[in-house]
Amino acid sequence: MSRFWTDRIASLDPYVPGEQPQDKKYIKLNTNESPYPPSPKAIAAMQAEVGERLRLYPDPNGQMLKNALADAYGLQANQVFVGNGSDEVLALAFMGYFVGDKPLAFADITYSFYKVYANLYGITPNIIPLNDDFDIVPSDYDNLDVSGVVVTNPNAPTGKALPLSDIEHILNANQDVVVLVDEAYVDFGAQSAATLVNQYPNLLVVQTMSKSRALAGIRVGYALGHPDLIEGLERLKNSFNSYPIDRIALVGATAAVQDAEYLAEICDKTIATREWTVAELEKLGFVVLPSATNFVFVTHPERDAESLYLSLKEQGILVRYFGKKPRIGDYLRITIGTDEEMAALIAAL
Ligand code: PMP
Repeated sequence: MSRFWTDRIASLDPYVPGEQPQDKKYIKLNTNESPYPPSPKAIAAMQAEVGERLRLYPDPNGQMLKNALADAYGLQANQVFVGNGSDEVLALAFMGYFVGDKPLAFADITYSFYKVYANLYGITPNIIPLNDDFDIVPSDYDNLDVSGVVVTNPNAPTGKALPLSDIEHILNANQDVVVLVDEAYVDFGAQSAATLVNQYPNLLVVQTMSKSRALAGIRVGYALGHPDLIEGLERLKNSFNSYPIDRIALVGATAAVQDAEYLAEICDKTIATREWTVAELEKLGFVVLPSATNFVFVTHPERDAESLYLSLKEQGILVRYFGKKPRIGDYLRITIGTDEEMAALIAAL
């Protein structure tokens, strides 16, 4: 029998993350994690936190992390929001700023979680297709009648980045609504809109500790924006769970943010490995989209993406295949691992 709750459950279409096998040891190039350990200072800070203090709740404000992020981006602490992974920050922003009578604009292809949240919160998507070169075209975001705009920069899973002037174009064309710029991969070669936060009260920049800071395991993400936008997120958060960051994550993330040197070192290594990988893939006949991220989005004119994915898996290498879908189904997304891992990938291909 159909009941209200059964219909509700049936209507939920959750995001399906990349495989996280717990058995066999794969070379894991499928979920854009860092192949490098977190900052040694972050590891030491987390180790020091494990002990008697864990009986106490963490600081509900996450103030030490907000202060460190404010210092790192040249902002005030009231311009920083922290949450349990950027997925949670995105969820709160969608709930707070995009629910309404009007649709929410975002691209296709982009991060597929946006569609999931839109469905969950009853938001109608206004899907704006990428052009034939997989680019976001800023003028496509002019004259919209929407509740908000989400731009992923660099975009995922394409890896392509927009210059800040294009982000400003979209901000100026949508001054009455929040423009959320998801910068999960920005540290690998794109320009961050964090420098625009003081100029645009409608800008919310969302970043994560999961990629460039190699801390996917502690689930910390953050938003940078006008104090009013941040205050809105705080009120939403406190209506759900006033302690979104645990004590261990808080000290680890803070130490990682304060270790700018280590961040630069592992980003530089990743970029160098990416350039080597792109050149090798092109030698093998792959078409590789220009990437400003820690992954590459690739297709081969003569080889089927699904069979490539299966054959690599067979050989102990996991990459991301998105299923038999138009356009995206012809591509694989390959995370940039260590030099050794990428050499193994090229040998397997
Ligand atoms: N945004 C984009 C574009 C992503 O690819 C991801 C990672 N899947 C996230 C946000 C979420 O990252 P996290 O929740 O680990 O911060």
